[in-house]
Amino acid sequence: MNTDTVFKEIERMRNEMTETLMELVRVPAIAPQSGGDGESKRAEKLVQILKTIGFTELRHVDADDERVPSRKRPNLIAYLNGETKERLWIITHLDVVPAGEEALWTVTKPFDPLVKDGKIYGRGTEDNLQEMIASIYAAKALKNLGIKPKRTVALCFVADEENGSKFGIQYLIGQRLFDKNDLVVVPDGGNGEGSFIEIAEKSSLWLKISTFGKQAHASRPSDGLNANRVGMEFALALDKMLHEKYPTRDDYFEPPESTFEPTKKEKNVDAVNIVPGEDFTYFDCRILPRFDVEEVLKEINMLAATFEKKTGARITIEVVSKTVAPQPTDANAKIVTMLREAVETIRGIKAKVGGIGGGTCAAYFRRVGIPAVVWSTADEMAHQPNEYARIDNMVNDAKIFAQLAMA
Ligand SMILES: [Zn+2]
Repeated sequence: MNTDTVFKEIERMRNEMTETLMELVRVPAIAPQSGGDGESKRAEKLVQILKTIGFTELRHVDADDERVPSRKRPNLIAYLNGETKERLWIITHLDVVPAGEEALWTVTKPFDPLVKDGKIYGRGTEDNLQEMIASIYAAKALKNLGIKPKRTVALCFVADEENGSKFGIQYLIGQRLFDKNDLVVVPDGGNGEGSFIEIAEKSSLWLKISTFGKQAHASRPSDGLNANRVGMEFALALDKMLHEKYPTRDDYFEPPESTFEPTKKEKNVDAVNIVPGEDFTYFDCRILPRFDVEEVLKEINMLAATFEKKTGARITIEVVSKTVAPQPTDANAKIVTMLREAVETIRGIKAKVGGIGGGTCAAYFRRVGIPAVVWSTADEMAHQPNEYARIDNMVNDAKIFAQLAMA
């Protein structure tokens, strides 16, 4: 049986793949800290889908989490046995980020998916359902044709990727489900041609900055201390300081420099005529691995101390999440070579190996010395309004996964 037969079988299921992806979009899976009830409902839907496809033995590795109604964060593994015990893991995540500003969704509502011009629109279509469906249908094509792949395919669906993976891949790694001989693909990032294989990442540092002043009537501001103003000034000063102190570029990375972005703001007072006594703002920092994250934090705290002195407000810096970049995956690791070859054979292009902003499941594998690659073909619409997945990318990436299983 040649690979063309498998690829044709994948092509034949194009519409079914699209329908299945849309079914999953309709069941949101948002983390409790973003106001959602976790991934359980979506996981149930996925179990139904997998059973229909013929994955009878599913392994559930749920992590307890009191914050969600089901009290668990579901993680799921579906195996397709191969000729050898060598395992190809394809890791995709169940959770999605919230819709964001609904008014910006002009094509369709975030959880009401729509097909238009060869793209499926909806929250989570690209991040990470496109590749989840691609991995499932790569395995389904092999099943349909009665092909036993060379190596065992383990489709792994995890929770909590968007908020640090404690209840997702970190939990699974803690359960010792993986070993150093595993081949691990995390299709959760890449470019529009599928010509970028990520083997390294930046450190990531998320901060909550709280500014405490004194609430007052807005007509008598001198009775209070406006935490909103101090908070804004501090955020801008911090933004400037970080960019000035860390301008270094490393062309191995994409983008080549460290990034420091003021992102989320928490709502403050309910009325226009109140001087806010509190202000909460957040920063997302992605730092080149050559820099010490603790050193960056120290600089930030020093600036906060200076501001406290200058303004009389109290400023606290809380680390919401911190991931220090692990040792990169060896550029000559087997999975890197296999993927390069698959991309070259099927698409006729040479893939570049490099680093990105980080924050995918692959980092946790690298930390325990298991080589992992991040790869997919995507327009990088993740977390944006009008997020979409190209149907062609979903179908063509499924072929790559099938090739990785067979070659
Ligand atoms: Zn993702």
